Amino acid sequence: MSGTVLVTGGAGYVGSHCCKAFHEAGWKVVVFDNLSRGWRDLVQWGDLIEGDINDRAALDKALAEVRPDAVAHFAAYGYVGESVTNPGLYYRNNTMGTMTLLDAMVAAGVDKLIFSSTCATYGVPEKVPMTEETPQSPINPYGWSKLFVEKILSDYGHAHGLRSVKLRYFNAAGADFEAETGERHEPETHLIPLAIQGQLKDGFKLTVFGDDFDTRDGTCVRDYIHVMDLADAHKRALDYLAAGGESNVFNLGTGTGTTVMEIVEAVERVSGSPVERSIGPRREGDPPALVASADKAREILGWVPQHSDIETIIRTAWNWHQKEANRPRG
Ligand code: UDP
Repeated sequence: MSGTVLVTGGAGYVGSHCCKAFHEAGWKVVVFDNLSRGWRDLVQWGDLIEGDINDRAALDKALAEVRPDAVAHFAAYGYVGESVTNPGLYYRNNTMGTMTLLDAMVAAGVDKLIFSSTCATYGVPEKVPMTEETPQSPINPYGWSKLFVEKILSDYGHAHGLRSVKLRYFNAAGADFEAETGERHEPETHLIPLAIQGQLKDGFKLTVFGDDFDTRDGTCVRDYIHVMDLADAHKRALDYLAAGGESNVFNLGTGTGTTVMEIVEAVERVSGSPVERSIGPRREGDPPALVASADKAREILGWVPQHSDIETIIRTAWNWHQKEANRPRG
């Protein structure tokens, strides 16, 4: 199926990879992004409208011009630590901005939305793997800002007939196979880019946040999912809604957990050189283990991750960061 999709936050990491996948599947893509944390050069698979999701007039204008069949909504801030020190930024952008977008969609008669949610809405789970029924109890404002939207989407669905697919990502990782886009955060806080950048930039040493967790090697376990597998899930979710599917929610992970030390060792294997590191204290708010059950996405969307083995994740990230290391800076 195809049509036109408006992609908020399409200049960011997950958004830009999804734009590529949508475009390759035959969708016309238009990106709506204020470029506050996104990148103009990552918008390559459709036109860019520069605008803010808190700006209702800009949204009304974009929706009237583009007349999308659906909206894929990625525009959000995503740093857990920042959300703790500046919660207003997160509730205003992630929650209130999304409400402004939903109101504009209802007014324009656009009734299909794909929403980027997160495993951070679960907080610290009692057991893994986590299903979509695992109780949601976030432990930081970032997780709450996304969980509020999940609730608002249910209510807007009931009141206005807006159909949505909420996708709860586990740890998005890796990069486009052609390295046309990839992960670019400033500042970077994520494990895989930091472990790789430590090898490409002089003088950086990775800190492993805690080695005394109750896990197989004492370091945290996460479920790393290749960003192109995430993109494939979004494409399937668009098809699902376009075919008349009802509102739904899916975990997007692999069902397999990897420790921080296993990631470090994989980076060493792919790069052929040691990752300089030291063991530091635990990072506040880090659950010991987060692993998805992705059975529901397989059963309903037919989604099976194809590229999420750790070697492929690290190899594609490595290629991207090597290219990034030579990028001219303004
Ligand atoms: N981590 C680490 N050192 C770093 C960054 C992350 O040890 O400099 C660990 C972190 O504690 C977590 C895992 O790596 O267990 C993944 O962290 P990341 O920030 O990449 O993603 P998150 O799980 O927080 O979404």
